[in-house]
Amino acid sequence: MDDKRKRAKPIRFGYKLWAMCADSGYCFNFFLYCGKEVTQSKNPLGTRVVTSMLTVVDNPFGYTVHFDDFFSNYNLFKILKEKGFRATGTIRDNRTEKCPLKSVKEVEKTKRVTHDHRFDKKNKIMLSQYVLSKGGIKTRKSQAPISQPKLINNYNKFMGGVDHHDWLLEKHSIAIKGKKWYWCLITRIVDMAVINSFILYNLLHPKDNVSIKEFRSNIAVAYLKLGHGRRVQKGRPLSIPSTSRAQVVYDVCFDEKNHILDKRDNKRRCQFPLCKGKPRTFCKKCNATLCLPCFPKYHDKSYAK
Ligand SMILES: [Zn+2]
Ligand SMILES: [Zn+2]
Repeated sequence: MDDKRKRAKPIRFGYKLWAMCADSGYCFNFFLYCGKEVTQSKNPLGTRVVTSMLTVVDNPFGYTVHFDDFFSNYNLFKILKEKGFRATGTIRDNRTEKCPLKSVKEVEKTKRVTHDHRFDKKNKIMLSQYVLSKGGIKTRKSQAPISQPKLINNYNKFMGGVDHHDWLLEKHSIAIKGKKWYWCLITRIVDMAVINSFILYNLLHPKDNVSIKEFRSNIAVAYLKLGHGRRVQKGRPLSIPSTSRAQVVYDVCFDEKNHILDKRDNKRRCQFPLCKGKPRTFCKKCNATLCLPCFPKYHDKSYAK
C-alpha cells in the first residue's frame, strides 16, 4: 500500500463478488463474499473460493483455470490436479512451501532474460521464476527480441476475462438507484445476466454486430412491448418494422418451444388477425387468446407476413 492509499479514507461499506469468467467475459459462476465465514475447512480463503467456484464444472478434464496470486498457493494446485483441472497462476514468495527457487535478485544478476524452475514430479506442478533484468522488455536494435513463454501469454489472455466482463458491464449498467443496501447487488446481478446473454447472442449471431447499448435497449423495448398483455389484447400486429431489432418477444412466438394450449374461465376475442372467434383457449407462453384452428397459424412465421 502506498502513501496515497494510506491517506485515502477506507471504504467502510461495500461488497465483494468473486467471479469466474471465460476469456470472452462470460461469467460461469460468482459468489458474494460476506466477510469471515464460520468454516471447518483448514484451507485458506483463496483455495475455498476457487474450489467452490469450480463445483459448477461437470467434467474438469480439458479445462485450464487461471487465477492470480491472491488465490494461489501450492496446496491449491495440488487439489486442482487431483480433481483433474489444469491450472496456471502467479504465486507469492511466501506460498511456495519453501520451494528452493533462486531469488529474484539472484536471477537478475545473470542474463537479460532468465528463469529458474522446479518440478514436482509426484504432483506434476511446476514452479518457475521468470525475470527480465533491468531494461525490461524494451529491446535495442543490437539485441535479439525476447521470446515470451506461451504460458505467460495464455495467462495474460485468460486472466483478462473478469476485467472484460466488468468492462462490458460498466459501459451501460443499470442506473436506477434504490435505497436498500442490497439494491446495487440486485442490479449488478441483472447486469451480469445481460452481459452473459449479450456474449451468447454474439456467439450465435456473429454477423449481427450488435453493440451492448443496442442489445440492452432491445431488451427494454421487448419488455415494454410485452406490456402485461396489452399488445395481445389489441391484436397481433400484422407486420413489424424490419428496422427494429427489438423483436425478442415477437420471435418467441415462433421458437416452437413450450407453446401450450390452456383454457381461461372467460371467453375473449381470438388474437389471430381477421379471426372473429371468441374462444376460452389461449397460448400459455404467448399469453394470446387463440381458437384451435388459429393456434398453429399464430405460431407459424409464414402467416405473419
Ligand atoms: Zn405461443
Ligand atoms: Zn381464431
